[in-house]
Parts: sequence; C-alpha cells; structure tokens
Amino acid sequence: MSRKIIVAGGGHGGIAVASILSRNGYDVTVYEKNSRENMGYDWTDIFDPKALAKADIPMPDNSLFEYKENMTFYSPNEKTPIKQQVPEAELEIKMERKDIYNLLIDTAEKNGVEFVYNCNIERAIIEDNRVVGINTSMGQAYGDLIIDACGCESPVRISLPEEFGIEKHPAKNEKFYVYRAFYNKANEKPVEDKYKVCLLPEGELGIGWVATENEYTDLLIGRFEPFDMAEVERTAEYFRSRNESLGTKVVRGGQFVEIPVRQSLSLMVANGYAAIGDSAFMTVPIIGSGIANSLRVAPLLAKAIMDDRSETYTAEALWQYQYKFYKNLGAGLAPLAAVKLLLTKITPEQLDYIFEKGILTWKEMTITADTTSITDFVHPALDMPKRAVSIVKDKDLLKKMLKVGADIGKIMALCIALPKEYNKEKVKHWAEKYNKIFK
Ligand SMILES: Cc1cc2nc3c(=O)[nH]c(=O)nc-3n(C[C@H](O)[C@H](O)[C@H](O)COP(=O)(O)OP(=O)(O)OC[C@H]3O[C@@H](n4cnc5c(N)ncnc54)[C@H](O)[C@@H]3O)c2cc1C
Repeated sequence: MSRKIIVAGGGHGGIAVASILSRNGYDVTVYEKNSRENMGYDWTDIFDPKALAKADIPMPDNSLFEYKENMTFYSPNEKTPIKQQVPEAELEIKMERKDIYNLLIDTAEKNGVEFVYNCNIERAIIEDNRVVGINTSMGQAYGDLIIDACGCESPVRISLPEEFGIEKHPAKNEKFYVYRAFYNKANEKPVEDKYKVCLLPEGELGIGWVATENEYTDLLIGRFEPFDMAEVERTAEYFRSRNESLGTKVVRGGQFVEIPVRQSLSLMVANGYAAIGDSAFMTVPIIGSGIANSLRVAPLLAKAIMDDRSETYTAEALWQYQYKFYKNLGAGLAPLAAVKLLLTKITPEQLDYIFEKGILTWKEMTITADTTSITDFVHPALDMPKRAVSIVKDKDLLKKMLKVGADIGKIMALCIALPKEYNKEKVKHWAEKYNKIFK
C-alpha cells in the first residue's frame, strides 16, 4: 500500500492529517502557495492545547506559549462589561502563529510528509465524476485522494462541479472580513481590561478586539462586509479614544484576512475529495476559532482513509469521516451558527439591554475554542425566570430569540437524523434540509 494523497494547501488540519497518514505508510505531499518562511501570519493565536494531542502533535516547549487571560466583553454603550471566567482546566494557550506552523510542519516532516512550497493551486482536476488531481502554477499533480486544506475560499472546493452538491462560497453574514495589526504602545499606563472584545462597536455590525500586551497593543476589526484602510484608520481612532495605549504605528501584522463564521459544510466529501478545517467551515461560528477544531478532526479523516480497504476513497467510503465529524463536533457547532445569526439581527440597543439586564452573564461569555456545543454556551441558572421576564418585555427581541430557539431545535433534530450509511439521494436530501435552515 502506497496510495498517493495530495493535501491542497497547508492548513492546520491538512498538515495534521498528512502527518498521521504518512506515519502509517501513505505517500503524502502538501502543496502550499507560500514559502516555508512565510507560513502563518505575523501574529499570535489562541487555541485549546489539548487538541494537539488528539492529532498526535507534541506540546510545544513551555517558552513558546503562555496561558491566555480572561476576556471582557462590551456591548455598544460599554456601560455593563462582562468578564469571562475560564476554569483552569479549559485555559487556552497563546502562541505565535509561525511557531504553531513550525510545530506542525516539523512533526509532519519527521513522519515523512513532503512539502511543495511556492505552488499556487488553481483548481481541481475532475475525471469521471471524481477529483483526481489539482492544477497548480507548477503544473498538474495527480493523486488517489485530494484533501482540501486551502482555507475559507479554497480554489479546489470552488471549482468542484455543481452536481457534487458541495457549497462553493459562504453566504452573506457567514464570513468575517478582518483587519488585524499590532500597534506600538502609546504609553505604559495600566489598563483595566487587558483583553477587550467590543460587540457591535459604534453600532457597526461586527466586533473589535483590543488586547493590551507588554510590547504592543493588538487590534482586530471584524465586519460582515469588506472595508478599506480609510475605515481601519477611522475605527482605530475610535478605539484609541477608549484605550490610550493603542499607538498609531503598525509594528506587526497589518493585513486583511477572512474567517468563516457559519455552520460546517453540509457535504464535505466527494469521490476522491475531502475538505478539512476552514475549507469545510469548521470554526466555532460565534468566535471564528478554528485551529483546535482542525486538529481535532484530523484523526477522524485519517481513520476513514485507513479504514477504506478498497483504497478507492469514494464519497461512500469517506462518508464515515463526515458522519463522525458531525457526531463528534459538527452537531454541536451548528446550533452556535444559529446563535451567531441572532447577533447579526439584533440592534445595538437590544444588545445593550441584554448586557444590562443580565440576559447574558459571564457564564455564557466564557466562550473559548472549547465551546463546541450549544450546551457549553447555555448555562441553566436560578435567575432564568428573571432573565425570561426581561426578554418578554422586549417583544421584538423575544420574536428574534424564539425564531433562533426554533431553528436550534430543527438543527439538533436534523443532526441526529444524519444518515449513518452513504446513500447519494438520502445524503443530498439531508444536506438540502440542513442548508435551508440557515438561509
Ligand atoms: C485574524 C485572524 C485571527 C484568528 N485567530 C484565531 C485564534 O486566535 N484561534 C483560532 O483557533 N483560530 C483563529 N483564527 C482562525 C484560524 O486561522 C483558522 O480557523 C485555522 O487556521 C484553520 O484554518 P485552516 O488551517 O484550515 O485554513 P487556513 O489557515 O486558511 O490555511 C489555508 C492554507 O492554504 C494555503 N492556500 C490557500 N489558497 C491556496 C492556493 N490557491 N494554493 C496553495 N495554497 C493555498 C494558505 O496559504 C494556507 O497556508 C483566526 C483567523 C484570522 C484570520
């Protein structure tokens, strides 16, 4: 057995699954558009370190990470901040993105994975209703299976034929347009909240993240519509008026990027094709964290591939990957996508009201990359009746929340009904019903 596996794009989950497969005797090559030195962004990320062990990646050296501190959430009027309280066992780590990549690539290379850098993937090659390879700037590459780890707007997924039934692009309000930069520190005055998350700041549909670190102040602006540098400057000025440490000089990062914030793909496998990570929209929809989920899913995909004794990697064989993904993770993430849709529908005044009346508390706002299910998000408490009364008093808010509640019920029921065995018509029917709820 030496089936040839192509990993399209050096996404986190793609490298992790490549590593497991290569260690088990598969011939695996990762094709990546960046150079080795340019892998990963010039900033830090926060993720659940327990996910590394799931993908058989060793813990990084202690000098390479620190535990993340609690974040404080602000509604638009900033009157009633809510500070999360993450339990010690669930603490995430903060690590340089480039060090995360060093760890993943070093492990994969030790296991025998080949990397081809500076190689831009243009599209999938399809023959006889099957993905058989990729067209790249370096020519064509053929394989027995193509694992798509090219991220949110993957050129491989986008070029798949319509009849595969795999969605091509995230819809409106399903993708975050982000600008992120580390600015110089304007002064060393202590700040009350080191990690500040502003929801619908200035009433804009989006978020702002201002983290006051020792060496710099980290600013992230996220919106559901694209925006330009003039808007970045204007918004940075707004945050500067609230956080004096935010300087004017960009010292690191300074890039526009995109994050999927939606339910995972309703169909993520086809003959000769499987998507993982952002290319299958596997982030936690409310916060856009996707590193841990990509790693958690890697062993599920590797197992489905290794269990396929016929080595044909048909949609039917790969279905076990999608099935296990939904049972382990996807079914929990999907209702969170419905909660995110609520955030795009409420007014800034309603969000202020939700904060002021304690409808959301520190328990709900203790959202981490470990928040992979609606049950992690909702916390039964003695004051629930009081919170319910506050919701009922705002009829419009009540209507919106009831709609989301009904959708969550439908999503949960549908995820339970996901076909265990692959049947083309049944699976297509399931995917159509699932997609319809989020429309
Ligand atoms: C500003 C920002 C902050 C974030 N912060 C966090 C965080 O703190 N914690 C967290 O868990 N997640 C965070 N995320 C999300 C996280 O980056 C992703 O969810 C995670 O990386 C999983 O995505 P991925 O690795 O599958 O895809 P990506 O990270 O998009 O990687 C895709 C890879 O494919 C390559 N590629 C793309 N197109 C081509 C092509 N045409 N040819 C060849 N190669 C190609 C890319 O160069 C890249 O290496 C953040 C994202 C952004 C943008």
